Amino acid sequence: MKIDDIKTFGVIGAGQMGNGIAQVAAASGLAVIMNDIKDEFVQRGLDNIKKLLTKAVDKGKLGAGDKDAILGRIRPSVSISDMADADFVVEAAVEREDLKFKIFENLDETCPAHAILSTNTSSIPIGRIAARTRRPEKVIGMHFMNPVPVMKLVEVIRGLATSDDTFQLTWELSKKFGKTPAEANDYPGFIANRILMPMINEAVFCLYQSVGRPEDIDTVMKLGMNHPMGPLALADLIGLDTCLAIMETLHDGFKDSKYRPCPLLRKYVEAGWLGRKTGRGFYKYE
Ligand code: NAD
Repeated sequence: MKIDDIKTFGVIGAGQMGNGIAQVAAASGLAVIMNDIKDEFVQRGLDNIKKLLTKAVDKGKLGAGDKDAILGRIRPSVSISDMADADFVVEAAVEREDLKFKIFENLDETCPAHAILSTNTSSIPIGRIAARTRRPEKVIGMHFMNPVPVMKLVEVIRGLATSDDTFQLTWELSKKFGKTPAEANDYPGFIANRILMPMINEAVFCLYQSVGRPEDIDTVMKLGMNHPMGPLALADLIGLDTCLAIMETLHDGFKDSKYRPCPLLRKYVEAGWLGRKTGRGFYKYE
């Protein structure tokens, strides 16, 4: 398969990452199938895309006709069997290994033999997911950053069995989406979350041990280290459930206590304080 043979692009999961990925894929001219488990979740994803595109039109960055064309290229789906048409799929469902295993088994059954199956996982080993399919050479990590339409990076992660052709196509597709790819190998957390998440976890430890209030911790990192966002505000944006899942994967994968999740992070997740998506995390949101 060549880059121009990728015409239909499937996205599993229409949450904050999935709808962003669907948006950039549709904006690049591909026909997109955006799948979630319930109509209302797909609709919520579509509403979010509409909101962002309308903002871009209002700011004069996008023509009204282009907005309609992008939206017209996104087909909603609540059945994984719709992926029978897909040449390339990105899975962006919740960060749970058992769920991703099931999705990849189903995708392997459903998708055409030539289709590449990628995952936007933050930390689950690509090789472990690939082993659930009969096409491990066509399984790869395609890790977008949040918010997808804004952030330039795509971390492209090779599993042990990923072929060079699969890698090359994913690299080229990232560029077609207007992103800059970076290559990583398959170890827990890859590059991005191996470095980012222990920093966020350490910021939660600072709060846990009353070293500082959330505002102080974030101000130190913003003004002192020139980070555009403080680590606690960033954790709220990512989702505290996702942050905890990534720390668990690092801890489990390396068996090193330096990756133990802060008990306060666990406590927030258990209370359902997941950050922006639930209106409360380290900060409160309207
Ligand atoms: P989210 O909770 O916003 O969305 C996940 C979506 O997956 C939900 O809409 C849910 O209904 C859907 N889903 C669950 N089971 C499904 C299934 N069987 N089939 C189809 N859809 C299903 O989560 P998110 O933040 O978008 O994260 C999605 C993935 O992206 C995770 O693997 C996460 O680790 C990764 N990721 C997240 C970020 C971030 O900043 N949040 C950044 C990079 C990567």
